[in-house]
Amino acid sequence: MAAHVSPVQQGTYRLVRDIPVEEGYDLVVAGGGPSGAAAAICAAREGARVLLAEATGCMGGMATSGMVMSFAPMGDGSRCLAGGLIREVVDTLYKQGFLKPGLHPDVWSKIQGWVPFNAEGLKLLYDDLATAAGVEVRLFTQVIDADADPRRGQVNGVVIHDIEGYHYIRSRAFVDGTGNAELAALCGAPCREAGRDTPNIMPPTLISLFSGIDWRNFGKGSEALKKALADGFFKTPDPHLSGLGQVGQSIGFANAGHIFNLNALRVKSMTDGMMYGRKLAQEYVAYYRKYLRGCENLELACTAPLMGVRESRRIVGEYELDVVDFEARRHFPDQIALNNWPIDIHPYEPSKQAMARFEREFLGRRYKPGEYYGIPYGVLVPKGWKNLWVPGRCISVDIPVQSSARTGPVCSMLGQAAGTAAIQSIRTRRPAAEIDTEVLVATLRKAGAYLPQQATAKRMTHKN
Ligand SMILES: Cc1cc2nc3c(=O)[nH]c(=O)nc-3n(C[C@H](O)[C@H](O)[C@H](O)COP(=O)(O)OP(=O)(O)OC[C@H]3O[C@@H](n4cnc5c(N)ncnc54)[C@H](O)[C@@H]3O)c2cc1C
Repeated sequence: MAAHVSPVQQGTYRLVRDIPVEEGYDLVVAGGGPSGAAAAICAAREGARVLLAEATGCMGGMATSGMVMSFAPMGDGSRCLAGGLIREVVDTLYKQGFLKPGLHPDVWSKIQGWVPFNAEGLKLLYDDLATAAGVEVRLFTQVIDADADPRRGQVNGVVIHDIEGYHYIRSRAFVDGTGNAELAALCGAPCREAGRDTPNIMPPTLISLFSGIDWRNFGKGSEALKKALADGFFKTPDPHLSGLGQVGQSIGFANAGHIFNLNALRVKSMTDGMMYGRKLAQEYVAYYRKYLRGCENLELACTAPLMGVRESRRIVGEYELDVVDFEARRHFPDQIALNNWPIDIHPYEPSKQAMARFEREFLGRRYKPGEYYGIPYGVLVPKGWKNLWVPGRCISVDIPVQSSARTGPVCSMLGQAAGTAAIQSIRTRRPAAEIDTEVLVATLRKAGAYLPQQATAKRMTHKN
């Protein structure tokens, strides 16, 4: 296709190009992280024709390219709150030998325990699940624009870019699984931005992978950190260090080192952050070798290709789940996921006071075993939009709830609900905000979701 380029005028460069149109899709999913992959796989299992566009070379998002190799606890002390696809994923990783050596199924089916996994195993599994479901996966493919009508709340198509050029993809429904609400923002749906609409941005972490760890003689991270801080070892002393997590016989990943004041929605900030994160990883190599028993021969295998972004954009949805709901342990007739992870707002600065604030929130407001809150369907639907759903870490929530609900398992459940709702919406010809949520809950239950609410409702919950 020929490109016709106008001269640069007033600092902008106008690109006019004929773009091939592709059509026939029921659902286009932007981004293949835990939310997008689940949306695509579950919608395709319902018989829909689904295209998933993923910017990197694999599905899994933060859990693979971000190297966050551990699912947050899914059990509430006696039962598993996470059903459906994520439960299938964890059970299969276990059978295939891709979970942390020695991990017992009780850890995810009952206990409030972490589920560390090998990211290569998860990549393979998403490939298999998407292929078996019939999803058309396009890797190295970025959604770069949207053809949308904000007044009608309607998305007609998206523009994607890959090695072959630009393509316009027409579809009946769209799921934004980008983690940053990128598609929602391109459509003109209302969003809140960290740093613009909030005083602070939760700091991200560039995760790293290490080999050569002697896990049998592994020391206590909290004591090692205390000593290193007392010695003045770090250039930027950060009292909040999550530490090393075992994922294999001699390998582990480090969720270590916050990158303060980084704005994930600004290219320069992300570029500076990646460069700084790689330097920080070298400092942690020296720290682990010197202070942590079992790490004397540790080697840095790699840092993650994707920055570990905790917070960027959130949509303004039909329902905004907030800290009042969290405190009330509220359940909803149209809840599509359950969660009991605490408020987890990482300190905005590397100070003892900020750390104390974090601990007060995290420990002080933590749920007791057996308690959970529900996540209602409306958090997935941008206010006023008919055929767009936004699951994952950018749902419609306030900051405390975002910090609790952004875990991989919850994002997967939200994605499954988004994909399922999109297909129901197409089949019943009802816009996103008007689908029968009783039917949605029933479909999700049939697909394995654990949604124990006795009372269901035909209409989504709205705030009083
Ligand atoms: C540092 C860190 C540590 C964490 N620790 C844990 C933990 O221990 N346990 C846990 O359960 N959770 C943890 N989380 C949370 C969890 O990993 C993420 O919140 C979750 O993966 C978010 O899922 P998502 O699908 O919304 O987005 P992501 O996982 O971010 O996936 C988004 C995907 O979309 C793709 N994409 C983005 N834009 C486009 C575009 N325009 N076109 C095409 N593709 C695009 C990206 O490449 C990516 O693959 C952590 C998160 C971070 C950042």
